[in-house]
This record gives sequence, structure tokens and C-alpha cells, in this order.
Amino acid sequence: MSENEKQPDIIIVGGGAAGLSAAQYAARAGLTAHVFDEMAPGGQLLTIDELENYPGFDSPISGFELSDKFVKQAEQFGAVVHYGSVDAIDRNEDNSFTVTTSEGTYTVPVVIMSTGAKRRELGIPGEKEYQGKGVSYCATCDGPFFKGKRILVVGGGDSACGESLFLSKLSGNIVIVHRKDRFRAQRSIAGNVEHDDHIEIRFMHTVHEIKGDGKKVTSVVMHDSEQNKDYEEEFDAVFIFIGATPRTQLVPYAETDESGYLITNELMRTNIPGLFAVGDVRNTPFRQVVTAASDGAVAAHAAAEYIDDLKGQAYV
Ligand code: NDP
Repeated sequence: MSENEKQPDIIIVGGGAAGLSAAQYAARAGLTAHVFDEMAPGGQLLTIDELENYPGFDSPISGFELSDKFVKQAEQFGAVVHYGSVDAIDRNEDNSFTVTTSEGTYTVPVVIMSTGAKRRELGIPGEKEYQGKGVSYCATCDGPFFKGKRILVVGGGDSACGESLFLSKLSGNIVIVHRKDRFRAQRSIAGNVEHDDHIEIRFMHTVHEIKGDGKKVTSVVMHDSEQNKDYEEEFDAVFIFIGATPRTQLVPYAETDESGYLITNELMRTNIPGLFAVGDVRNTPFRQVVTAASDGAVAAHAAAEYIDDLKGQAYV
């Protein structure tokens, strides 16, 4: 940014539902809020084909469309959305932050981390080799390439179950394997998988290797721990949904829980003054678009109070 430009009040790192909601609320509270996202804003929303549980929409809305609405609404109130990276967040002695971005360097009293989490990989032979050739982590993105094909889904959470249901609209030949004897997913989503004729469920299974002909996936080696046997079976695609690792590397000084998520209080404050965290990067019991948006609203409100306190003004 140029030297004459006013420094923002808040930098929001990550433009998913949590970050964009924080931007909207902060801007409406009269604060200058800048959101940075190195990809198109929307975060994980962009990978959701149909969102049926976001309140206020009585028929499913695509994640892409909802994300577009989040961006437009935040911008309408004056938030600035940058398509750029945040490269460092350094703490200063007065508790402000120096934020180095691809657009310039800013000094701000408040940073809101809404960096989300990076998908986890199985780390088995063939997984990396066949990424983009049958191994995928996004059903909305890659599912249509495997219409009518035999698909293996790995995982037992909401993502694995939800994405299996999406894939079952494209193929009647889905197998889902999970390492435990029951799904971790919400009952409603797991129940739909159990009742879907296109999906075969195999519990107590782990995947050991993904094989192919060099160009595409052809088979998978699995272990059935109930029968203690390994076997190989033909598949055209493997969709892996085994959770995610929170992106916290920009703030190594902030406290995290044993799984690496930023610890916040109910106001989304971390242990570092002026540093807030929202959405999937924080230790929240329920990761939904609606809870991410709620986190953003709470954080913006608390950040406005924090800034007013810094200015020695009463919060209105
Ligand atoms: P989760 O962490 O909830 O689940 C990950 C699943 O993968 C677990 O079943 C876990 O097994 C399994 N797993 C982890 N590591 C391995 C491994 N190495 N090998 C085999 N299996 C493994 O991740 P999700 O992505 O499903 O969900 C993330 C968050 O997003 C959750 O809070 C979820 O509620 C939310 N979400 C909500 C949706 C919705 O409401 N529509 C849709 C998608 C996500 P185990 O059970 O044994 O630990």
C-alpha cells in the first residue's frame, strides 16, 4: 500500500465463510477491514456442490453462489477483498502486528485468522503418483470425470459421507471404507449413506496402496482388520476425505490444542492480544458454514470492542 493510504483496522487472513462474515460485520461497525485470500475467496464453500443446511435458503444453494453473495455483501459495506497472500504476521512491542502481504506491508491492531485447514493425505504408495489421475480430495471438482465408474471413498466423517452421497448421483458403484466400526459423521448424513443403494459400506478397513497403469488408477490394496486379510480390488477412482490440518504457521506464537487448532475463548480471542481466530482453524466442536459465519460475526464485534478499548473510548 502507498504511504498516504490509511492503515486498516483489521486484516483478515483467509476469505472463506468465517473471514468474509468477519469482514462484513467489521465494515458495518465502521472499521476498515481488509481480507486476503491467495485463491478466489470462498474457501471450502467453493467445493460444496449443494448446501442444504445454511439457514435462510429453503432449497439447496451451491457453495459457489453462496460464496459470491458473501463477497458482494462484505464489499457493499466497504470491506476490501484482496486476491493476494499474507506472508508474515510479526508482533510489535505495542501489541500491534506488522503484516507482510503480496500487496504491501500493513501495521494493524487486529488480525483475524480464518485460514481454515488443509486436507490430510493418507501417505500411502501410489497416492501422490495418481493425484489428478484418479486420486482426488474433492468430489465436486473431480466427481463428474468418473460418471458410472467404480469409486472408492475413504473416511468416516461428514466429508466422506456427504461426498459419497454426491458421488452416488454420478455412479451406482461406490464403496466407502472406514477404519472404525461406525461412522463419525452426523447421524442424518451417515443414515443417508446407509440407505443409499449405490453405496456399499465396509467398516474396519484401511487402504494400503493405490495401483495404476501409469496413466490412471486401476486398483487398490486394502486391509480388512476384522478378518485380518489384505486384498486387492479394481477401482477407477479413490476419493480421500480423512480430515484436515489447521493452517497456523503464520502465527507460531499463538496457543493451539493437541490437534494443532488455535485455542480461542467465546469471543474468538486467542491468547495473543489483538489476534482472533474463526472457522475451521480454531478449536470448535462443530465445523459448518453457519458456525464459521457466526464465528466471524462474533470476532468482528469483539475486535471492534478491543479497538475501542485501545482508543480509550467506550464501546457503543
Ligand atoms: P473429520 O476429522 O470429521 O473426519 C475424518 C475421518 O477420517 C474420520 O472418520 C477419521 O477416522 C478418518 N481418518 C483420519 N485419518 C485417517 C487415516 N489416516 N486413515 C483412514 N481414515 C482416517 O473430517 P471431515 O473432513 O469429515 O470434517 C471436518 C469438519 O467439517 C467436521 O467438523 C465436520 O463436521 C465438518 N463438515 C460438515 C459438513 C456438513 O455438515 N455438511 C460437511 C463436511 C464437513 P476416525 O473416525 O477413526 O477418527
